[in-house]
Amino acid sequence: MCLSVQVFYTSMKKGNTKLFISMYHYTRDLRHSRYPEIKGLDVDLFRKQLEFFEENFNVLRMEEVIDAVKGNDTLPDNAVLLTFDDGYIDNYTTAFPILEEFGFQGSFFIPGKTFTTHQLLDVNKIHYILASANIKKLVADVKEKMDFYRGKEFNYPSTEELWNKYAIDDRFDNKYTVFVKRILQTVLPERLRNQISSDLFEKYVGVTEEQLAYELYMTPEQIRTMKKHGMFIGIHGYDHYWLGNLLPEQMREDISKALETMSEFIDRKEWVMNYPYGNFNDDVLAYIKEKGACLGLTTEVRTADIGKDSAFKLPRLDCNDFPPKSDNYKKWM
Ligand SMILES: [Zn+2]
Repeated sequence: MCLSVQVFYTSMKKGNTKLFISMYHYTRDLRHSRYPEIKGLDVDLFRKQLEFFEENFNVLRMEEVIDAVKGNDTLPDNAVLLTFDDGYIDNYTTAFPILEEFGFQGSFFIPGKTFTTHQLLDVNKIHYILASANIKKLVADVKEKMDFYRGKEFNYPSTEELWNKYAIDDRFDNKYTVFVKRILQTVLPERLRNQISSDLFEKYVGVTEEQLAYELYMTPEQIRTMKKHGMFIGIHGYDHYWLGNLLPEQMREDISKALETMSEFIDRKEWVMNYPYGNFNDDVLAYIKEKGACLGLTTEVRTADIGKDSAFKLPRLDCNDFPPKSDNYKKWM
């Protein structure tokens, strides 16, 4: 486990403590892909972004960030760390070779389930449904299914109440998309969410879940190759659950399974957690510390301050916050 927070406060040398952490999901040639509506960073824009970082930033390795958090080292000015969530194969085929070309390290956070049982994660079922269906029609479908199943085997609040609570625009999605995501990611009981997601997937996406799972995620061999080439590999849960919403026992089981399936790729005494959906609670924090985590990455949007922030709650910006997509990052300079 990393040294305690007090140690690094007192031993931190004077220097930059501000760290930008950029978050990536899909990285692919979107225009020529089968699902151009998938929300990802196009390969040309990814390359331009790395050119921007090369000119204006110091791209750090995860090991350097861990050292800075321990107080062994300071950060250079304009420090940025590149993080890739979910273990998508396009991170391997598209992002990895370009990172190598620039001599940059990427940190890849891979849910254990993606390369062991080859089942599609709920988060991806939902992405592909959203990329394939008309959103208003989809909302109508989801509401109809909620009304159909209510009171049979499952109980949950009225559709109107849930609509009012969850249909709210956020930074990236309109209220319709946010509603579908929340209802199918976390609001309904898990078994029902799976059932409805699978029904809608079959109706709209046009391939089987198994086919998509095999073409979507990295294989163990690919993860191994990236690690051999100096990329950093970290933990992103096993089943990609909202960990803070699980019963403590389920939460511990998910994280333990993640550690077991990923043990070849991580240092069990000093590993990095990336909370699926940025979701965690005090039980999650206590458990990962007990199990040897030394850093935790969230989805809170701002720069991290290595001198002030808890090492287990480091905020990140999205890749869309940097050029060539936008200059949003300047708000946090
Ligand atoms: Zn994720």
